[in-house]
Amino acid sequence: MIVIVKQNACPQQVENLKKELEGLGLQIHFSKGVNTTLMGLVGDTTKIDIGKIESLDIVEEVKRIQEPYKKANRKFHPENTVVDVHGVKIGGGDFQVIAGPCSVETPEQICEVARDVKASGAGLLRGGAFKPRTSPYSFQGLRGEGIQLLLKAKEEMGLPIVTEVMSYEDIDLFENVDVIQVGARNMQNFELLKRVGRLNKPILLKRGLSSTIEEFLMSAEYIMAEGNENVILCERGIRTFETKTRNTLDLAAVPLLKKLTHLPVIIDPSHATGIPWMVEPLTLAAIAAGADGVMIEVHNNPEKALCDGAQSLRPEQFDALMKKVNKTKEFFKTL
Ligand code: PEP
Ligand code: MN
Repeated sequence: MIVIVKQNACPQQVENLKKELEGLGLQIHFSKGVNTTLMGLVGDTTKIDIGKIESLDIVEEVKRIQEPYKKANRKFHPENTVVDVHGVKIGGGDFQVIAGPCSVETPEQICEVARDVKASGAGLLRGGAFKPRTSPYSFQGLRGEGIQLLLKAKEEMGLPIVTEVMSYEDIDLFENVDVIQVGARNMQNFELLKRVGRLNKPILLKRGLSSTIEEFLMSAEYIMAEGNENVILCERGIRTFETKTRNTLDLAAVPLLKKLTHLPVIIDPSHATGIPWMVEPLTLAAIAAGADGVMIEVHNNPEKALCDGAQSLRPEQFDALMKKVNKTKEFFKTL
């Protein structure tokens, strides 16, 4: 980190700042030019409050030259992290598919979809029990009962389950859930991130609707800083000026994240576009972009779905997509 000192800064105040920073265990190297003095800070600068230093009278500007995320940073962990969900590996070189309805509705619905997506080759079953809806009058999910239905589907079909937690107060209900999702709206719910960081189970973290890549990685860092390094990142579309699609899929985030972090990266083309026919081309594009997987909404009766039916694939559409996924995976292995 570099602190640019103002031209006519009081030398005593500069000395005080130097002492304060040294007190934090940092080494300070001065570089005095004709017009500016730079202070180079060497050591662990993660705990430094940049705003506080910037507010000092003697400081012109503070610049970070290292990323503020450490545990998620590929620089300090060059190998890919492979998240192992009871034998289903995400990030290990294979392209993993998570599929299922937006929300769990009935025992028949979740079991039928689980059976269908498993038969088509999905590795994990998704289904929302706690639903973050824009309107309080929309279906809010079956909550605890929804988790029980997912567990039953898991028992019958043998697919590990992924479901979203919205509040840390509900966390005990997720004891037998295989992967806990933290949704886009909660990406910066720091207390929730800390809470799931203390669990010993994989966390699927979705990118916030208007979050930068660095904010996304800092949220992963929150989870990892508490000890849980099993984090899967999910690009699910961001808010832009475009209105033709529900969100804008930032496909560039995939290679970018893969460069910056060792964590697995997947995409969610269902929420990114809101349009079922766009799910297939974007899934294939994600394979080409180097993603570790995809999460797709599938419903056995989209017209009657209680949530996101319009963007859900029918089981037969999902099956056709999976055939193309397998061919595309094979093709990329030959390159
Ligand atoms: C979901 O996956 O069901 C969901 C609500 O996604 P997001 O948080 O990306 O909107
Ligand atoms: Mn949905």
